[in-house]
Amino acid sequence: MAAIIDGKAIAKDIRTELKEEIDAMKAAGTTPGLAVVIVGDDPASHTYVNSKEKSSKEIGIYSEVHRFPADFTEEALLEKVDELNRDKNIHGILVQLPLPKHISEDKVIDAISPEKDVDGFHPVNVGKMVIGKDSFYSCTPYGIMKMLEKEHISLEGKHVVVIGRSNIVGKPAALLSLMNNATVTICHSRTKDLAAITRQADVVIAAVGIPNYVTADHLKPGAVVIDVGINRNEEGKLCGDVDFNSAKEVAGAITPVPGGVGPMTITMLLYNTVKSAKAFAAK
Ligand code: NAD
Repeated sequence: MAAIIDGKAIAKDIRTELKEEIDAMKAAGTTPGLAVVIVGDDPASHTYVNSKEKSSKEIGIYSEVHRFPADFTEEALLEKVDELNRDKNIHGILVQLPLPKHISEDKVIDAISPEKDVDGFHPVNVGKMVIGKDSFYSCTPYGIMKMLEKEHISLEGKHVVVIGRSNIVGKPAALLSLMNNATVTICHSRTKDLAAITRQADVVIAAVGIPNYVTADHLKPGAVVIDVGINRNEEGKLCGDVDFNSAKEVAGAITPVPGGVGPMTITMLLYNTVKSAKAFAAK
C-alpha cells in the first residue's frame, strides 16, 4: 500500500511560512502585491480567480482583481497590463487563461514584465528555466518539486517519466526534474507503448487530462506517482489522471485528487509573488 502524499497539509505549512515572511516584510516597509486580471465570464475561471484572491489575502498579500467583460478589447487589456507593469504596489501580475478568442494569449503574456510574471509563462522566464537559471517557474510543476522536496523524495539519479507535454505542466515538469538531476523521459499522445516506458519509472508525473488513465499496469512496484489531472468522471465526481485505487496497491507513494497537487499550485503563486516582492525590495 502506497504512502499518501498530503498536498493540502504541505501547502498549509508553506503558506504559514510565507505569512511569517510577509509579516517581516511588512514591518520592513514592503507589502507583496498581486494583481489578477480576468476577461469574460467563464465560471471555472472566476472560481479560480476568487480562490487566488482569498488565498492571497489570508496570508497578507495585497490583492487586486480586475474583472472585464467578454468583449473587452485586446488593446485595452494590453494597456491594463502596461499600467500594472508600472504600478509600484504590484509585484506579481497574472492574467487568467483562457482569454476570449479575439485576444492573443501570446501577445498578452509577452506584454507582462518578466520581473512580475509570477505564473512563469513569459518566454524570458521559460528560457531561463531551460538553461537552468533562477526565474519564475510555472506554479503547478514547481509545486510538484516543492512537494517532493518536503517529502524528502530526491530526484537525483531517478528516472522520471512525465506523461504530457503542455507548456504549463508537462514540459516545465520535465525541465525542473532535469534541473534536480533526474533522468527524464517525456511521453505524450503519440508515444507508443506508454506502459512499457512508465513501468521503468521511479517517478511518474501524469498530466494527461484523461480520467483514471494511468493504472497499476503502468507502474513499477514502489514508484512515486504524482497525479496532476483535474477531471470529472462519469458520475461528475472530481478525479485525477491516475486510477488511484489500483495504483495505490503498487506505488510506493501517491498523490490523491483532490488534496494532492491542486493545493500546491496556488501556494506557488503566492510563493512567487513574495519572491518577486523581495527582489523589488532589494533593488
Ligand atoms: P493539455 O491538454 O494541455 O495537455 C495534455 C497532454 O497530454 C498533451 O501534451 C498530450 O500530448 C498528452 N496526452 C493526451 N493524450 C494522451 C495519451 N493517450 N497518452 C499519453 N499522453 C497523452 O493539459 P494540461 O494543461 O497539461 O493539463 C493536464 C491535466 O492537468 C488536466 O487534467 C488539467 O485539468 C490538469 N491541471 C491541473 C492543475 C493543478 O493545479 N492540479 C494545473 C494545470 C492542469
